[in-house]
Amino acid sequence: MIITEMKQLQLMCEEVKTVKEGEEIGAQLLKELTESENGIGLAANQIGINKRVCVINVKEPLVLINPRIVEKSEDQFVFAEGCLSFPGKHVKTGRHTSVIVEADNHEGKLSFSAESEDINDAFECACVQHEIDHLDGITMFERSVTPQPVRVPKKIGRNERVTITDGKETKELKWKKAQPLVESGDWEMAPA
Ligand SMILES: [Zn+2]
Repeated sequence: MIITEMKQLQLMCEEVKTVKEGEEIGAQLLKELTESENGIGLAANQIGINKRVCVINVKEPLVLINPRIVEKSEDQFVFAEGCLSFPGKHVKTGRHTSVIVEADNHEGKLSFSAESEDINDAFECACVQHEIDHLDGITMFERSVTPQPVRVPKKIGRNERVTITDGKETKELKWKKAQPLVESGDWEMAPA
């Protein structure tokens, strides 16, 4: 049974005392995850166990016991996330582009980065942050980002010249070049 009550999901989880205890919870989580429709991660408090264990399964099943993010990039990427506790809901979240994680059942550090060409790396990177958040009682809704409303007059010609600004610098360039910058959210249309 997957917990869907927000109040329960907002509770902080406690560390497990032994790796063995963590592995037992991890096995339950993987079973539940496998039975889910299309989940790629699950945290123990989502099945009613308030302990710091979570699993992700993007490229391969990975159990994380008492995981902690020890390093994170300043820059973030925007990701469309779902959650088994909130079926049918999707949120655009801001996640660190890369994180380094330590866990009691892994020697050394685990590195996750959304910067590679492989989309699965981005999934894994967002997922690990999503699951560790769960253990701190944080849901994806708290990471939601609202992209700046892009005010673009309808029907700009691809070759039409526009002026855009990132708040410091102003550029005048063709719309086909400006469009991806504006859509990234870093640039906006400058008043003409
Ligand atoms: Zn979730």
